[in-house]
Parts: sequence; C-alpha cells; structure tokens
Amino acid sequence: LEEQIRRSDRLKMIGEVAAGTAHEIRNPLTAIKGFIQLLQRPLAEREMSRELDYVEIVLTELERVNSLVGEFLLLSKPKKVELQPIRIGKLFEEMLPMLRNEAVMHGVSLHYEVKPDLPPVYADKEMLKQVFLNLGKNAIEAMDKGGSLIIRERRSPSASGGVTVDICDTGPGIPEDRLDRIFDPFFTTKEHGTGLGLSICQRIIHELGGSISVRSGAGGTIFSVAIPAASVPGQELVSGGGALPSDDV
Ligand code: ADP
Ligand code: MG
Repeated sequence: LEEQIRRSDRLKMIGEVAAGTAHEIRNPLTAIKGFIQLLQRPLAEREMSRELDYVEIVLTELERVNSLVGEFLLLSKPKKVELQPIRIGKLFEEMLPMLRNEAVMHGVSLHYEVKPDLPPVYADKEMLKQVFLNLGKNAIEAMDKGGSLIIRERRSPSASGGVTVDICDTGPGIPEDRLDRIFDPFFTTKEHGTGLGLSICQRIIHELGGSISVRSGAGGTIFSVAIPAASVPGQELVSGGGALPSDDV
C-alpha cells in the first residue's frame, strides 16, 4: 500500500510539474517568436544595429526552454535506482574537481572536511551526485560576491545511524518567508533559474529514504542531507525504510 501511495504521489507530482513546465515554456517561446518577427520585417524598417542583441536573446531563451525540458525529463523519467553501499568520502573525491571548478569561476573558495571512519550509506550513487551538485551549485550561485562553500560530513544524530552531509555557504541567506517555498517546483529568484533543482533534490532524497533540511540566517545557509546507513549494528543490510524496489523507479 505504501508503495501505491508513493506511486500516486509521484504521478501527481509529475502531472503538476508537467503543467508548470508547459506554462513556464510559454514565456520564452513568446519572447522568441516576438524577436524572430522583428527580424522578419522588411529591411527598411529594421534596426540593424540591434539585431545581434535580438539573436542573443533568442539563443538565451532557447537555452532556458532546453533546461526546463531537460530538468523535467530528469524529474519524470522512470529511472532504475541502484542501491548499494557507498562511502561518502569516495563520492566527494569524484565530485570535488567539478565543484571546485564551478567555485573558482565564481570566486568562491571550497573546503571539504573529510571525516574518516564514517559508516557507508545505502543509496544510488548517480542520484546522490545529482543532489550534491545541485546543492553545491545553489550555494555557489548565492555567493555572487565571493565567499566560502564548506562541505562537512558527520554521523547522523538519529539512532538508525547513517551519514549527514552539510552544504554550508556564506551567502546572504534565505529570508524566512521564502524558506517554505524553495522546495516548490518552479520557485526561483534567479533570472535564468528553473526552480526545479531543490524539488529534484528533495524527491531523490525521499526516494532514498533520507531527509533534507535547511537552516538559514544572515551569515549564510546550511542544507543538511541525511542518508540511511548501509547497515545497522547487529543487522543485515537495510534499505533505510524508504527506498523503492529498483524496477519501480
Ligand atoms: P534555481 O536554482 O533554478 O533557482 P532551485 O530549486 O535550485 O532553483 O532553488 C530555488 C531557490 O531557492 C533559488 O532561486 C534561491 O532563491 C533559493 N536558494 C537555494 N539555495 C540557496 C542558497 N544556498 N542560498 C540562498 N538562496 C538559495
Ligand atoms: Mg538550483
């Protein structure tokens, strides 16, 4: 039954996001049409000096349509979940070059605090990477005047064990009245944002049986991601109570 509820929640979410995506795609399409029409007028009526700008806008808007469709596909495409024991430290070893590159381009310094002896988690590697890339990118994008991105790992405080990763930034923080909307699909405060990043992160983490939370203040923001343990002392491998069978997602 739990399975069925999860599936119907998922379908409902996909339906909502599909409707939202269609709506969000209309704006850039309208802009694209308008600027192409400007380029279609008789030569005598055209402002040649501005046409390169029009083309630039058309390309930007096309890119936005492309990201919207891409993120929608990521969100809705049934994907095989491959649960396996994963060392968080090893995962970040693989991801750090990419994150560091992104950070450097934005004048942000990146600190990764390795914690040895953490137990392995039980999750899908590619899905986890997607979550941490999204959170890392958001943190970096929040610090447009530079700052620090700190990635910390620790044992989850809960009795069932697992690992919690904190993604901390020294950005401006998220105003309280905005905090409960940031996980909504399409909620964005960025000019070229899709507003799908955090809703994708949340969906993935729930699917893996973990949790994601946020704390924010004037000094910055911390997203905490808790991932279930690969094993509980005295027990066999457990799936963390929330993961779907691999042929269902
Ligand atoms: P997008 O990045 O496309 O805007 P997201 O779902 O990733 O969409 O994020 C939604 C919104 O949450 C962002 O537009 C931003 O306002 C806010 N946000 C997310 N992460 C942070 C952060 N680290 N610091 C400040 N604001 C953030
Ligand atoms: Mg984002």
